[in-house]
Amino acid sequence: MLDQRTLVLNRSWLPLTTTSVRRAIGLIARGVAGAVHPSTFEVADWRAWVERGPADAETLRGIGFLFPIPDVIVLRSYGGLPELRVAFSRRNVYRRDGFQCQYCGSRPAVSRLTIDHVVPRSRGGPTSWENCVAACIECNAGKADRTPPEAGLQLRRLPRVPRWPGGLDPRALTERPVWHRFLPRLLDEPVVHTGTDG
Ligand SMILES: [Zn+2]
Repeated sequence: MLDQRTLVLNRSWLPLTTTSVRRAIGLIARGVAGAVHPSTFEVADWRAWVERGPADAETLRGIGFLFPIPDVIVLRSYGGLPELRVAFSRRNVYRRDGFQCQYCGSRPAVSRLTIDHVVPRSRGGPTSWENCVAACIECNAGKADRTPPEAGLQLRRLPRVPRWPGGLDPRALTERPVWHRFLPRLLDEPVVHTGTDG
């Protein structure tokens, strides 16, 4: 339960990141953050949260009283903007692409996903957000050292630099409906079908 995640908003209610429940509770305890009631949006300090937190929330036990686990907290004074730069990594390319092969659309196990260089490295294609996509083993092997048009493949989306709050896995959107209302269009990326782009 303590490994669950809590969404962290800045004082303007913009999503910054997610943190562990343990850390979120620490921030509330120190008065740095308030717990956000998921239906009334009331911001509660420690005491108010213990007294009036959502009755249906999971609770933290074993600390002498029941403490509703906060889904969302808001920082009291931090007004910084979300860090939108996402580190380039294999995992984050998979995340950007929804763990979906960008050629055939399949969603294999992560162990059967690969990174494909759209313009092959052998042709000078860089290792970058714009030239790397998630691909299943079969499509990657079939494409080999060719561009998508040469291999008769079509990218489902134009690969772009992603923008999402740095600490936030965009898949959390589907996993935690309670967060939806706090996540503006930050995560929306237009789907662009490319015909000839290699
Ligand atoms: Zn595929």
